Amino acid sequence: MIVILRHGHTQEEFEKITKRIEDLGLTPHISKGKERTIIGVVGEDAIAHREQLELLPGVEKIIPILQPYKLVNREFKDTDTIVEVDGVRIGGNEIQVIAGPCSVEGREMLLTVARNIKGAGAKLLRGGAFKPRTSPYTFQGLGEEALLYLAEAKKETGLPIVTELMDPRDAELVYKYADVIQIGARNMQNFRLLKEVGGMNKPVLLKRGISATIMEFLMSAEYILSQGNQKVIFCERGIRTFETETRNTLDLSAVPVLKKLSHLPVIIDPSHGVGRWDLIDSMSKAAVAAGADGLMIEVHPTPEDALSDGPQSLRPERFAKLMEEIRAVARAVGRSI
Ligand code: PEP
Ligand code: MN
Repeated sequence: MIVILRHGHTQEEFEKITKRIEDLGLTPHISKGKERTIIGVVGEDAIAHREQLELLPGVEKIIPILQPYKLVNREFKDTDTIVEVDGVRIGGNEIQVIAGPCSVEGREMLLTVARNIKGAGAKLLRGGAFKPRTSPYTFQGLGEEALLYLAEAKKETGLPIVTELMDPRDAELVYKYADVIQIGARNMQNFRLLKEVGGMNKPVLLKRGISATIMEFLMSAEYILSQGNQKVIFCERGIRTFETETRNTLDLSAVPVLKKLSHLPVIIDPSHGVGRWDLIDSMSKAAVAAGADGLMIEVHPTPEDALSDGPQSLRPERFAKLMEEIRAVARAVGRSI
C-alpha cells in the first residue's frame, strides 16, 4: 500500500509515521516528490495495518496497491527512476546506447569495437564473458580473461562495462569488473540469482525471458528491488512466437506498457529481438520512437568471424551510420542522444 502524506506535514509527523511502519515489521520506501511525500509500505499482510496508519497525524490517505508488484509499480513512485552509471543517466531525457560484441573473443577485437562505438557516440560497452549458449559444444566465453579485456577497454575509452552474470558463484568476480550487471533472458526467473544481484549496490540490466509475460518480467524486477537494489533497467529483447523469419518477435509495445506500469527505465535490444543485422536499423528507430530510454546493439569488427551472434551483429561503420539516424528520431520525439 502507499501512504500519502498531507501537504505541509511536519518532519516530526513524518518520522513518527515511518517509525510506526517499522515497528509493525513493515518496510517504508520514501519518495519525496515536488508536490507530496509518499511512503510505500511493503511487508507480509501490510494492508491489515491500514486503519492503524490512517489515523496517524500527517497522513492524508492510504491507497492499497492491488497488483502483486509493489516497489517497481509506478503508483509506488511517481517520478521516473534514473539509473546512473558512472555519470551516464539511463531513464532521463537522453537516450543511451550500449554497444559491443556479443562475446568478448579477444583483446584486439574488443579494443577495436570499443574505440569505434565510442567514436560513434555509444555511452556504454557491452561484452559477454560468461555466455549462455544453447549448445554445450559452442563457445562459452573467455570468463575472467574477458573481464580483464573489458577493464582494459574501459581504461582506454572511459566507457562503463555491461556484462552478464550467469551464476551466483561468479558474482564476486563479475561484480569487480561490471558497472552494470546483465541478467540474461534465460535467467530472468532464476530467483536465487535475482536475489543475489538484489543485494548488490550495482545497476542491473534485466532482460526479458524468452517466453515471459510482462507481469512475470515485472515480478522478476520486484525480486531485485525487494532485496534493496533499486537500480534496475528493463531490457526487452524479443519473445518466442510462431514466427520464424526473425529469431524472436521484438515486442515494442512492451516499452509503453512497462513505462505505464513501472517507474523503471526500459531499453530495447533489437539484436536479439530480430537476430538479423539488416533489420537492426528499423527496429532501433522504432524503439526510440516508441519511447525507449536506450538501446543495446551488438557490434563486431568482422561478423563473419564471430564466435556468437554474427548474423545479428553490425559492422562498426554501419553502427556509426545508425547512430546518426537514431539521433534524428530522438530529436523528433523530444529526446537527445
Ligand atoms: C546477450 O546479450 O548476449 C544475450 C545472451 O542476451 P539474451 O539473454 O537476451 O539472449
Ligand atoms: Mn548475443
